[in-house]
Amino acid sequence: MEKFDFKKKFGQNFLKDANLLSQIVEKAGVTAEDVVVEIGAGKGALTEVLSKNAKKVYSFEIDSELFEFLGEKFNNTNVQMIFKDVMKVTDDELNEMVGGKFKLVANLPYYVTSPIITRFLQNENMESLTVMVQEEVADRIVASPKTKDYGVLTVICQIFGEPKKAIRVNRKMFYPVPNVDSAVVRIDKKEALVEDFSKFISFVKQAFSMRRKKLSTNLETSKLKKGEIEKLLLENGFSEMTRAEELSIEDFKKLYNLFSGKM
Ligand code: SAM
Repeated sequence: MEKFDFKKKFGQNFLKDANLLSQIVEKAGVTAEDVVVEIGAGKGALTEVLSKNAKKVYSFEIDSELFEFLGEKFNNTNVQMIFKDVMKVTDDELNEMVGGKFKLVANLPYYVTSPIITRFLQNENMESLTVMVQEEVADRIVASPKTKDYGVLTVICQIFGEPKKAIRVNRKMFYPVPNVDSAVVRIDKKEALVEDFSKFISFVKQAFSMRRKKLSTNLETSKLKKGEIEKLLLENGFSEMTRAEELSIEDFKKLYNLFSGKM
């Protein structure tokens, strides 16, 4: 590919260091039995290493300038390129295409990191997710309660497993060089054990809506008054002064089950 016009709007920061690419695939634990979904092939650097290690790779790319190049590069290989915006493909379409369990491995476009993670964690066929994200996002994903990084994304990720920061990646490893460093995070999925995950997410968002405010203020609705929330909190072993950032993942589960029918 002679000349390529990097597009910021698509979060295009590419990798080429062979060592780092192998490390990502190794940390993802990809073996010859695995089917892998990649989001954002770019010029196919990670795709190529995935292709050598996995049984099959399904790789999405949105940028039409890359279609011909990628189509030729991966012609007659175990890589199926899907030239689409991944967010416009439904879970049913994706599951039908992939046809079973898969691992998600990607150097994610930063502008759509949280929606992609949130969405794929809910896909019952996804076994694990190993993704490159901006380091501050990685810090939020692995955060502990009572820290500034602990928030909605933390709870969404940790309800499904124990995320681990697998590799720290200096910004100079990308081209073009972005303004911040990155990190690779791995989440091995377990069953979340909350009914109606989208309602759970709304509950968590509401609990964190005003970070410094008490839970009883944030959760108040026309149906559920502050006094009633405080009473329920006290009856279930929480202080009426509790704030969302003080709650563990287990606490969130417990409170969601307690409040969800009442809000
Ligand atoms: N995997 C390549 C690498 O590591 O060098 C490229 C990674 S780059 C951070 C993200 C890639 O995702 C870009 O190629 C971009 O065009 C693509 N992309 C951005 N938004 C996308 C979307 N909604 N669906 C599919 N691909 C997308």
